[in-house]
Amino acid sequence: MPKTKIDKKKVLKYQTILMDLKEKIVHDIKKIADHASPSERSDSGDVSGHVMHLADVATDMYDREFSLGLASNDRELLQKIDKALKRIEAGNFGLCEECGCEIPARRLEALPYVAFCLKCQEKHEK
Ligand SMILES: [Zn+2]
Repeated sequence: MPKTKIDKKKVLKYQTILMDLKEKIVHDIKKIADHASPSERSDSGDVSGHVMHLADVATDMYDREFSLGLASNDRELLQKIDKALKRIEAGNFGLCEECGCEIPARRLEALPYVAFCLKCQEKHEK
């Protein structure tokens, strides 16, 4: 088994980035979920301007669909982040899941949750 060449300090840095990202996405999903189901809110004490005019309903529905789409993207991303965190625990973070080569640091810095090197990623997308 090839051992990751990324030193622990760097892995720790990626771990922090991934945890932060995860927290942010979880927060976003919750926010979107709240926004997507205002009818489930029973507290009438909310006076933050949730008055809806009939003309706004169509726009609101569009927004809602858009938000839900966004939420599913977020969930996908969340899974990738979780996998990346597991790879950190397993000690093989930064290695391509397909060919086992080292994922370039530049790529990891841009997308710390990627599981494949660019070559394998392209192969998958084709
Ligand atoms: Zn690869």
